[in-house]
Amino acid sequence: MDAEVILVGGGPVGLVMASLLAAKGVPCILLDAAAPKTAPDAEDPDPRVLAISPSAREILSAIDLWRRIPADRMGLIRRMQVWDENGAGELVFNCEEIDEPALGYTVEQALLQAAIEPVLACLPTLAIRHGEAVNSMLTSGDMIEVRTADRAYRGRLVIAADGAASAMRDLAGIAVQRRDYRQVALACVARFARGHEAIARQRFLTDGPLALLPMAVPDQCGVVWSTSTQYAELLCAMSPENFRQTLAGKVESCLGEALDYSRRTLFPLQRIEAEEYCRERFVLIGDAAHNIHPLAGMGANLGLQDAACLAEVLLAAREKRKDIGRIHILKRYERRRRPENRIMARAMEGFKYLFEEQTPPLPFLRNLGLDAVDSIAPLKRWFMRRAMGRVDTPRAADNKK
Ligand SMILES: Cc1cc2nc3c(=O)[nH]c(=O)nc-3n(C[C@H](O)[C@H](O)[C@H](O)COP(=O)(O)OP(=O)(O)OC[C@H]3O[C@@H](n4cnc5c(N)ncnc54)[C@H](O)[C@@H]3O)c2cc1C
Repeated sequence: MDAEVILVGGGPVGLVMASLLAAKGVPCILLDAAAPKTAPDAEDPDPRVLAISPSAREILSAIDLWRRIPADRMGLIRRMQVWDENGAGELVFNCEEIDEPALGYTVEQALLQAAIEPVLACLPTLAIRHGEAVNSMLTSGDMIEVRTADRAYRGRLVIAADGAASAMRDLAGIAVQRRDYRQVALACVARFARGHEAIARQRFLTDGPLALLPMAVPDQCGVVWSTSTQYAELLCAMSPENFRQTLAGKVESCLGEALDYSRRTLFPLQRIEAEEYCRERFVLIGDAAHNIHPLAGMGANLGLQDAACLAEVLLAAREKRKDIGRIHILKRYERRRRPENRIMARAMEGFKYLFEEQTPPLPFLRNLGLDAVDSIAPLKRWFMRRAMGRVDTPRAADNKK
């Protein structure tokens, strides 16, 4: 046996999973097809800016990662403002309403991934192999084996965190429910004339939401603009001046003029839900298990919750000297995480369709709804707590051993 756990995929979720297990002495090997991430320069930021929920932050703190993210690259979300292109309704969430210091934080995804490498380097039971893509898998008796182009690795359990297009999921024969939204998200980092004041803003346009996430620099925001593929390609081809004007106009110049912006990158949008999360000696986490619309910035947050929950289940079984690859153990994780991930995926889809529908009287009712939710305190608190991951914080997020 090469290691007790073979992890496939070194995105944010796979890296955190490796850290949660190896920090407790579990022998692990992590295989990732890509090269390790390097921290992006402040002048050339990663266009993909993640909103991190307070409960995900607790997981990142428990593995000693949070304090390693440079303070001048970490934004704070104290308030969230949502409004519709067609009407005057508005929904505002404030962290004070639920007695929390922040609704969330923002960090560039590549920066987060680069910051974890030194944490992982200190863990003696973890080996990381970059540039190794797994292409086959075989279970036999109490072992499971995966193969890359160069060699085979054997362990008791394979954890697949290989992203939305998961080849591991296919190798395990797990079916998915898939919906192609026929949309893409254009992501970039933009500077504006006015400071963002730690407010995350989201305007629902007719063809998709446009979000501005407040970053550490007071006039800098992560932009996530979900729209049709055709319009996104047009936006990418626009001259700098045209793009700046269009961007500022689409958010009603709420932060004044757009002054400049980083690279513009496109991501396809889809909903993918794995019909099962595990098989004997095999389990899915993160985007490999569920890929959702980025309109509430929840994808990585849900994946980190998966990692914390699975770590809790595996460590408890290991303490009782049980074989952690057995399906009845892995099902404990699936039972806790799949319903929660499904609720989020469906809620995001519901929001997306509700805001895209322009047939009267929907825009009117929608605006009425925004104002109604805004005025009902318990309903607002329910929304906020769920978005902040305050539903079932797994014990692995707890610093205590
Ligand atoms: C525009 C945009 C904005 C977003 N904003 C937010 C946000 O604000 N908040 C939030 O929580 N989420 C957000 N998300 C979602 C978030 O980016 C994803 O949920 C997250 O990246 C998933 O992480 P992961 O580790 O599961 O998968 P990935 O990040 O996709 O990583 C998969 C890894 O697996 C490796 N791999 C693939 N195949 C193999 C193989 N065969 N063998 C070995 N390795 C392999 C890849 O090299 C990669 O390193 C956003 C997404 C988009 C597109």
